Amino acid sequence: MNWFRGLESFVRENVPLAAHTNYRVGGPAEFFAEPPGEEALSMVLRRANDAALPVRMLGHGTNLLVGDAGVKGLVLRLPKKGFSELRCNGTDLSVGAGHSLPGLVKWASLSGCGGLECLAGVPGTVGAALRMNAGGKYGEIGARITRVQGVNLDGAPFSYSRDACGFVYRDSGLKGRIVTRCEMVIEESAPDASLTSLRSILAEKAATQPLAGRSAGCVFKNPRKFGTPPASKLIDELGLKGFASGGARVSHKHANFLVCDPGAKAADMASLIRHIRERVRSERGVALELEIEVWGLEAEALGAQVA
Ligand SMILES: Cc1cc2nc3c(=O)[nH]c(=O)nc-3n(C[C@H](O)[C@H](O)[C@H](O)COP(=O)(O)OP(=O)(O)OC[C@H]3O[C@@H](n4cnc5c(N)ncnc54)[C@H](O)[C@@H]3O)c2cc1C
Repeated sequence: MNWFRGLESFVRENVPLAAHTNYRVGGPAEFFAEPPGEEALSMVLRRANDAALPVRMLGHGTNLLVGDAGVKGLVLRLPKKGFSELRCNGTDLSVGAGHSLPGLVKWASLSGCGGLECLAGVPGTVGAALRMNAGGKYGEIGARITRVQGVNLDGAPFSYSRDACGFVYRDSGLKGRIVTRCEMVIEESAPDASLTSLRSILAEKAATQPLAGRSAGCVFKNPRKFGTPPASKLIDELGLKGFASGGARVSHKHANFLVCDPGAKAADMASLIRHIRERVRSERGVALELEIEVWGLEAEALGAQVA
């Protein structure tokens, strides 16, 4: 623990990551830090850089698969306290990256702030939602953003306008950066109308997605090539609903949701992902891209075609 001497109040060693992800599988982080504020964040980044340790950002782990052997280096998580302040001035909203996204969406609806209903049912933190450009068929978070602030992994601060964030379908140019805060523009709306829209999207998701299961939402991105069916349809058409590899299985409710049953290992999920990709590639000619983030597993183990 020499690298982080004096920072033991918020840096721990050998912390199991399974408890921090929705799949609840995966090994430990060599170092795990929850810096209580921006100064502590800079300090821990400086130490990690001095030690040449890899640094990874964790939110609520709802879009993440961690390998059974865990990861070397530092995993950082922004605690709610210190990184979730919410400020609202008319239609201008500023919120810390550690704020819960569902909490923000609910607060906005109840406060007569419209425009975030499209994010109903997306779990996780605001910071990760920006990194992933979270959203769905009703819209994406990137569309609302005016500015994103944070620090690069070397500790240098950044402040990007929306255009500089590179928001695209389930991705952004914020990979490898630490988002600490963002500003967005919302719309005035009647709480009743906003809540009705929120409830209707939530009901739609509850009817079509296995929300109670240990999942990471959609595992594969929908292919962008015009005319190619969405990933869930490709998987469903191959008869893979219910197909299992060890403790990991394709949901019966939604074929792009892969769920972990009790006793599952990350290796089971990797093998299921690999099987699906190989079948879709050989029988439908489509190379499925991952929407989830994966730590500590090789691309080959996940069935990616490696040149
Ligand atoms: C039941 C269910 C339904 C879902 N539905 C949707 C949906 O409709 N639409 C959708 O888009 N997603 C959906 N997801 C996926 C997931 O909720 C989103 O991707 C979410 O934004 C991830 O948030 P998180 O805090 O859990 O991030 P994590 O899983 O912890 O991390 C995801 C990525 O964000 C990075 N990250 C985390 N915090 C920061 C930060 N502060 N700065 C920079 N990078 C950071 C991580 O390094 C990682 O690369 C769903 C997941 C589940 C389990």
